[in-house]
Amino acid sequence: MSVRTYKFVLHPSERQRALLDTLQLFCSYVSNAYMYITTKYSKSNDKNMKNSEVNDLLNAIKTKYSSFSSLSTDIVHAVGKEVIKAPHQHTPITFIPLKKTSIKNEFVSIGYHTFIPYKQTRPLPESPNSISNVQIKKQGQNWFVYCYIYQPTTSVNPRNLHKFVGIDVGLKEFAILSNGTRIPNPRYYRTMEHKIKMEQQKLNNKIKNSKRWSAQKERLGRLHQKIHNQRKDFIHKTANDIIKNFDVIGVESLSIQKMNRNRKFSKSILDASWGDFISTLKYKAEDQGKALVEVDRFYPSSQLCSVCGSKQIMPLKLRLFKCNTCSAIIERDYNASLNIEREAKNKFLEQYVFGEQNLNDMGG
Ligand SMILES: [Zn+2]
Repeated sequence: MSVRTYKFVLHPSERQRALLDTLQLFCSYVSNAYMYITTKYSKSNDKNMKNSEVNDLLNAIKTKYSSFSSLSTDIVHAVGKEVIKAPHQHTPITFIPLKKTSIKNEFVSIGYHTFIPYKQTRPLPESPNSISNVQIKKQGQNWFVYCYIYQPTTSVNPRNLHKFVGIDVGLKEFAILSNGTRIPNPRYYRTMEHKIKMEQQKLNNKIKNSKRWSAQKERLGRLHQKIHNQRKDFIHKTANDIIKNFDVIGVESLSIQKMNRNRKFSKSILDASWGDFISTLKYKAEDQGKALVEVDRFYPSSQLCSVCGSKQIMPLKLRLFKCNTCSAIIERDYNASLNIEREAKNKFLEQYVFGEQNLNDMGG
């Protein structure tokens, strides 16, 4: 079983949007107040607050701030108690802990007679029992519904898998496939970088929390959201193409975090979103009974000759692999992708054909 996330944009009415914004703010206040009280008094008092104390705290927050006067006592208590159950998770607030959230016919019900419309851009699995959790989250200026759904994984049958490919993800290009295909890097951020810098500068010049500042902050948020969407779209399309054409896909497992420390490269790396790309490839492969094989990141894919297998040092600046042993000359990343394909094929055969996973299956 694996958990799959489905995310849809909510289209709340003005009134519903105001309710969600107020609730989110309320959650932050409750979480902060609770953390403050429990850390300040935990030495002298019992760590857990009594039910009546929790009620008092929630009522006090509701009455103290006029922004919360529109909230009903029911919702204040229900949501507040959820926040207090797991206060760490909710600082800063990542989602509104509405217990009764469910979805049906392109509406999200959050309880309290509130039904928020959303557009279902892809079908959900048939069985409603498989929905494990539904959450409401804000990103930028938009609200989203997240559905977490259990899905059985399709098992891999090695007899049906014949088409192998290795992928080298690079900086110059997004990816190079071992069949020679080059996928150019979209570099959304680079293109938009100048614009973002300008808009950020404008924000810095405004008085914090003023009307103009808020409007500018919204503009900046929309710009970031736009890049996010474009990147996601690119990753999905690229992964779909690869899964359609190949059965066993070899990739290098990359330690993105480690590479991000190298600041010179970090922007391009974030830009290219390798981590997202690999996880997208993985679940799309699982869905279709295909296999994603991760090659150890210490496997020297750039330093091996894909023709004769001999190894030599390859400084990053060298774009051509010139083999000292067999004299082959191959473009660096293409050479790496061929090595990754070979290594992935070996690992796949080891695991699925000669490994324990298939011992029972060998005779037939
Ligand atoms: Zn060679």
